[in-house]
Amino acid sequence: MVRYFIATLLFFAVAVTSQSTWSSDDEFCYQGDDCGPSSPKWAGECQTGARQSPIDFKYPLVRKPGKVVDLSFETAGYQAASGFWVQNNGHTIQVSLTEELRSEGAMWGYGMEGTKYIFAQIHFHWGEVDDGSEHTVAGKHWPVELHLVHYDQKYGSFANAASSGDPKGLSVLGVFLSAGSEFDENLAFDTIADHLPLSYQDHPEHITTSGLDLTSLLPKEGAPFFRYMGSLTTPNCTEAVEWTVLLDPIPVKPSEIKKFHDVLDHAGVPMGLNFRPVQPLGDRVVEFLVRGADQTRTGGVSRPTAASMGLLFCTILHFLWSN
Ligand SMILES: [Zn+2]
Repeated sequence: MVRYFIATLLFFAVAVTSQSTWSSDDEFCYQGDDCGPSSPKWAGECQTGARQSPIDFKYPLVRKPGKVVDLSFETAGYQAASGFWVQNNGHTIQVSLTEELRSEGAMWGYGMEGTKYIFAQIHFHWGEVDDGSEHTVAGKHWPVELHLVHYDQKYGSFANAASSGDPKGLSVLGVFLSAGSEFDENLAFDTIADHLPLSYQDHPEHITTSGLDLTSLLPKEGAPFFRYMGSLTTPNCTEAVEWTVLLDPIPVKPSEIKKFHDVLDHAGVPMGLNFRPVQPLGDRVVEFLVRGADQTRTGGVSRPTAASMGLLFCTILHFLWSN
């Protein structure tokens, strides 16, 4: 019992450290022998796991049509009319709509087996030049990759879901950003880029001068995406993530991507790059799928409607027809 209690305490210490505050004892970094991805600072499943993330998606070298599946969102919960939280935690820029990382945003659908995944936070991975995505497509990096982190609602929190031992305790939606033109607008990314904290912060900063609408980062109807089972991409690389990674990048202003190159770490040094190298796929299967007709709700309780049951029937027919 005592051992269990200590283990639980240790877990939360690590979880809190990796999420919000910096500690020199278990600091990891992305370059160098002392603290980089092949150093002991990347412990646990980072070294021993068999289903690690990120990976390279080789599939679209020959781009076949994907299977059409349901992927739905409670969109109202990805919108905060007044204020949001942002933090430079020394490893990334993390944004959430509530301080306690619990929102009403949720995703569900294909592969999620009747449960909903609650939106907790969004954070970014970038490079020193335009090669900062964690996942790659046919070996190619995009400039930035953002992760919308969700946890299975039955666990009540990110920390509980990550430590549950459930291989699908977490669901992360990965979205690539490409360098478009200065005329490319994205409501969510433009707002975050306007409030990018360049220096390390102990605690999330509450932005009160602007709301934040993250729905412009969610996949549109017909969007192709990859699905596979993997891990967190930061220590301890817990293998509890069902990944959904969109194939097509969102074009954003190059000047906004450039701002990330000025982000400093806890020591006041430019963070440089913060993506983990791709990991072996092993015997895992990567599915290439397409988001079906939009069933997203803007509020209310999850319940199948006549329309959604009709769509499900059509999707099954399509599946049977195409297989
Ligand atoms: Zn990430």
